[in-house]
Amino acid sequence: MGLPVPATLSPSKVSSFKDCGLAFRFSVIDRLPEPPTVAATRGTLVHRALELLFWEVPEGERSRAAARAQLDRAWEELQSSPELVHLGLTPEETEAFRSEAEQLLGRYFELEDPDRVRVVGVELMMEAEVGGVTLRGIIDRLELDEDGELVVTDYKTGRAPPMTHEQARLGGVQFYALLCEQVLGRRPARIQLLYLSEPTAIVAIPSEQSIRALRQRTAAVWAAVVRACEAEDFRPRPGRLCDWCAFRSYCPAWGGDPSLAGQPAPADATVAEVTALALDTG
Ligand code: SF4
Repeated sequence: MGLPVPATLSPSKVSSFKDCGLAFRFSVIDRLPEPPTVAATRGTLVHRALELLFWEVPEGERSRAAARAQLDRAWEELQSSPELVHLGLTPEETEAFRSEAEQLLGRYFELEDPDRVRVVGVELMMEAEVGGVTLRGIIDRLELDEDGELVVTDYKTGRAPPMTHEQARLGGVQFYALLCEQVLGRRPARIQLLYLSEPTAIVAIPSEQSIRALRQRTAAVWAAVVRACEAEDFRPRPGRLCDWCAFRSYCPAWGGDPSLAGQPAPADATVAEVTALALDTG
């Protein structure tokens, strides 16, 4: 009978299928919940503060103080979100959480002057048909450069990849160049990842060739997803990502049983905890 084929895919999910088919299935097909992490929630807070800075504060007034004020506002908004509540931070952890978010925002100013950014839009949802699948993604920031050409910017609050992995990381943001071209009819002149923790910027110029190659890769991944759904065959691919995987307790590569999937173990569970959980539930 086969598994239902997903109606849309986010660019990051296209990459995640290649990283591990089974984790893709748990996340995209079975839609198992993934517990929020401190790092991801801190990223949400900083992204929102930057969104507010560019959308609510006029050019010429985007100072560090203005950014801190928007962080306060974003922090207030976050208080009622299940993401933060689920973390159950102690007062000390909450203080550290806030302080790290402030540091990330402060380092952003070492990368660029926000008053010189000609913003076209922030948190832009874009959707387009690519290689047989509907891709849907949110662009952190779209702007115009000094020549009036489009620039796509993606903020990263985690650590920058080693030099040897830069191209792989840019592969994700190249998707946004592709979406821009498809939706707006213009290929961005530049795409950039701003790693706030370093801080460092990784920049690439999308070309007709790079976009064409991405289309072909997307079509190939999508064909593989459809085949895997038809055959109900999504295989685990153990590797470094297992350390952060929310589904480890159900993963056969870790002694788990996929048929018991429903309550993923915490992302920071140890191997012993995961094994015990798998045995208990079995
Ligand atoms: S634990 Fe590793 S191999 Fe298993 S599903 Fe997660 S990423 Fe894939």
